[in-house]
Amino acid sequence: MTVNAPTKDQLKQWDQEDKLNWTRGEFEIPDARKCGAKVDGDAVYFCGNSLGLLNKRAREHMMEELDVWSKTAVTGHFKHLYGRPWKHLADPMLPTIAKLLGAKESECAHSSTLTTNMHTLLTTWYAPTPKRWKIVIERGAFPSDWYAAKSHPGLHRNVLSEEQVENAIIGIEPRAGEELLRTEDILKVLEDNKDEIALVWLPMVQYYTGQKLDIPPLVKKTHEIGALFGLDMAHGIGNVKMHLDDWGVDFAVWCTYKYLNSGPGGTGGFFIREGLSDNGRRLAGWWGVNPKTRFDMTEEFDPTPGAQGYMHSNTGVLGSIPLLATLELIDKVGFDNLRDKADRLTGALDALLRQSKYYIPADKIPKDGEDTKLGFHIITPELPYRGTQLSLFIHPGTKGIMPRVFEKMVDRGLVGDERFPYVIRLSPVALYNTFEEVGRAAAIVEEALAEVEAEGLGK
Ligand SMILES: *Cc1c(COP(=O)(O)O)cnc(C)c1O
Repeated sequence: MTVNAPTKDQLKQWDQEDKLNWTRGEFEIPDARKCGAKVDGDAVYFCGNSLGLLNKRAREHMMEELDVWSKTAVTGHFKHLYGRPWKHLADPMLPTIAKLLGAKESECAHSSTLTTNMHTLLTTWYAPTPKRWKIVIERGAFPSDWYAAKSHPGLHRNVLSEEQVENAIIGIEPRAGEELLRTEDILKVLEDNKDEIALVWLPMVQYYTGQKLDIPPLVKKTHEIGALFGLDMAHGIGNVKMHLDDWGVDFAVWCTYKYLNSGPGGTGGFFIREGLSDNGRRLAGWWGVNPKTRFDMTEEFDPTPGAQGYMHSNTGVLGSIPLLATLELIDKVGFDNLRDKADRLTGALDALLRQSKYYIPADKIPKDGEDTKLGFHIITPELPYRGTQLSLFIHPGTKGIMPRVFEKMVDRGLVGDERFPYVIRLSPVALYNTFEEVGRAAAIVEEALAEVEAEGLGK
């Protein structure tokens, strides 16, 4: 890493020169004290990887929707005081979503939530046979993905033996003593089990380590062995650039409350590659019916061509409308510009953290028995294998130290998130974080560690 750590003055200057510096003003910045800090002022909110901030336009849009509900009730589905009939609520969102994904609009659907969408897709495209029934997923996957994947083989006891159900999951993991997945290792697992794998399910950006996977070779190999490739983009969408069509990904899911600021539990979506056959295995619902005939309410299921034909229920307006504001904003500033700024923010944070006296470089990371000194190392790889997030592993890796460091960070108004047992995740988000905040965050990490050191590790 050769990036020089910026000075306070440089950070200030970068904010002043930043062409995107106005977008922060579009958001409501949380209050430090209300987030649990012992200081006043704005929180340094580096947790957009978990829940994005409230866009001011989203608040306006939300009030408008309540207004429409109040004044026109059911009529709002068809005639809308603000020109957004609920029946077509997703229509203005899909072009931007498709662009973020590198996909066609017809391959994207705005619907339901991530885990439920994953179940929907697996129900259709995990169709095991006694010869080909295995699912490849990371052992360290976000638990919801793991539970979901693990639950599907059990639905196929008519074709799978109990032993096959039991052994259906191939859990991939980093090598012993390593933290990141190696493409070559995943490829080897695919090759070694090439006749038995039905489905590969991997994340675009790993939630714990912040590692961005190199998707194209994985998709290529998956298809070579005759399996399907599904992608979880929870930490990918709005964070990194994706090219699902070029990569040949078969299907994918996402949520929108992380980097797209749709609010807690906001509506997610899914992608289905054009031309991917479902072999007549589709879970149907009325929102999957062609919009032209949807309200004819006939017995005949006439699906919308493409991904939208797999939707089930009418769009949750209040869980969707905040998303529109952020998509409009991204459209206005251009995602490439945001991505550039994100790399600069994260790069600055990375460089500053590496200057800390508590920073442990890669070749000095202690082994379990020798892990006694307070410090941290950065798990997340360097560019191009990361997005916005940096994951800090807090040493010593004994239970109880990381939460103490985290608490001291919160005391000082830095909102990141803790992932047990040892990791603190920090994500400066290009839409609303500043370079100056990056400087403050790095200083707070340093102060928090110093305070824990002063108290003593054995406390
Ligand atoms: C955030 C996240 C989820 C959350 O799932 P929901 O169904 O939206 O609650 C699932 N998987 C991954 C990888 C995530 O990062």
